[in-house]
Amino acid sequence: MTSVVTISFSRPVHVHELRSGDIFVFPDAAHTALIVLDTREIPVSPELVLVCLTLTGCEPISLPRTTPVTALRMVRKVALKCLLCGKPTETELNLPKDGEPISVVCDDHDPTGTAVPTA
Ligand SMILES: [Zn+2]
Repeated sequence: MTSVVTISFSRPVHVHELRSGDIFVFPDAAHTALIVLDTREIPVSPELVLVCLTLTGCEPISLPRTTPVTALRMVRKVALKCLLCGKPTETELNLPKDGEPISVVCDDHDPTGTAVPTA
């Protein structure tokens, strides 16, 4: 079993990081969980890009890219190289729940295997 070392996911999330399937709340409406169906970026000017979010249960909304939100569910495929052998691995993590990955050890290094030194 691949083991992933993570740190807790406490950084703020901006709306442009959201993807279809994510669930989030606005900080001032923390009891209303919103499910993202689709996102689209709309360049307004060189300084301003809006993100148009299609959500369940309400009209599409457009917000500046850097609007902070609180993510409840953000499942991402994370590609990391094994710390011990460098083999590329891909793991799926729900970032707010599982944390952000910092390193990974692939399943070639089973700690319960025969590699344990005998005294
Ligand atoms: Zn490895």
